[in-house]
Amino acid sequence: MRCELCGGEIRGQAYLSVVDRAELILCEKCVKKASKVYGPIGQSKTKNQLSQKRTVSKRERNVVEEVMEDYAEIIREARERMGLTRDALAAILGVKVSVIRRIEEGSLAPTIELAHKIERILRVKLVEEVIEERKGRGEAGAWETTLGDVAVFKEE
Ligand SMILES: [Zn+2]
Repeated sequence: MRCELCGGEIRGQAYLSVVDRAELILCEKCVKKASKVYGPIGQSKTKNQLSQKRTVSKRERNVVEEVMEDYAEIIREARERMGLTRDALAAILGVKVSVIRRIEEGSLAPTIELAHKIERILRVKLVEEVIEERKGRGEAGAWETTLGDVAVFKEE
């Protein structure tokens, strides 16, 4: 914390005070110049307030992004509609043609990041937001599949 009048680091006690009708946090030296002093600010009090806030904002639900199941068809149809070859799409995305081929065959799910790029280029919707309940175990399995695909994708 810094003194808002002299700008020095407050090592001792900080005070919330009024100087020229403005509320400032002051060090022990500058507080003598204040026209009004509300009182010392305890740093431990601030810590308590923070930990209380954290408990309240804790949530059970989590929104995750997932690539749609029929991504292969969506991508192939949109690409052909735009008159793009697989080579052209691969070049735009900065990936190998074999990656595009496998995505369109449905054997390789694009990562969320890649899916978002494809969405922007082909103007399609590939990623949906799913509200994940923390207790669900099926979701965890889906994540493992995605991570496996990412590993394969990077080896390319
Ligand atoms: Zn000061």
